[in-house]
Amino acid sequence: MSLTVKQSRPKKCRVAGCRATFVPAQPFQTWCSPDCAVAIIRQRQEKQRKSFAQRERREIKVRKEALKSRGDHLKDAEKAVRDYRRTYELSIGSGCMSCGESQESILAAQGWKTGGAFDAGHFLGKGARPELRLEPSNIWLQCKACNSGSYMHARKGYTVSQGFRTGLIARIGLEAVEALEADHEPRKHTVDELKAITAEYRAKTRELKKGQAA
Ligand SMILES: [Zn+2]
Ligand SMILES: [Zn+2]
Repeated sequence: MSLTVKQSRPKKCRVAGCRATFVPAQPFQTWCSPDCAVAIIRQRQEKQRKSFAQRERREIKVRKEALKSRGDHLKDAEKAVRDYRRTYELSIGSGCMSCGESQESILAAQGWKTGGAFDAGHFLGKGARPELRLEPSNIWLQCKACNSGSYMHARKGYTVSQGFRTGLIARIGLEAVEALEADHEPRKHTVDELKAITAEYRAKTRELKKGQAA
């Protein structure tokens, strides 16, 4: 039986920027030099720090979600429905409901605006008509200028809200618009229902975007 120590096979240094070939003194050695050993330790610490930070962010998110009030959930649900309505109306080529301008001309005039040139706006405002706040048929595509109310008389002789009504009548008919205006049925959503609405509309938006990307 031979007593000579088995000569280790040469390895490549594990450090990405190095990759030098070396003969390890120990079987577990993955570094070619003390400098590369330090580099490996630093890499490992960085990885641990990142995974710790990630776990912490996840926990903060869970805690925040648990602290949300009913009003916060209502806001989430409204944002989800609006995002879906905006994405959908853009996808079928609609223009602004209030001024009647096409997507192309709005983009040319307002494309520089932060968050894009388009919003989804309520036909009947949520202040006066809170029961229609989450009603998809009350939420339509508007350009940023009309949504902020600054684009007065965009349709000849009309205010933004008059223009909205005119555009909506052209789109869904007078009967449907009057039915919406007459709808005063209170919607008293529970927190669980609001969460379900948020999840449903986020999923619908995701589906729509997936279809567009394909
Ligand atoms: Zn090395
Ligand atoms: Zn407009």
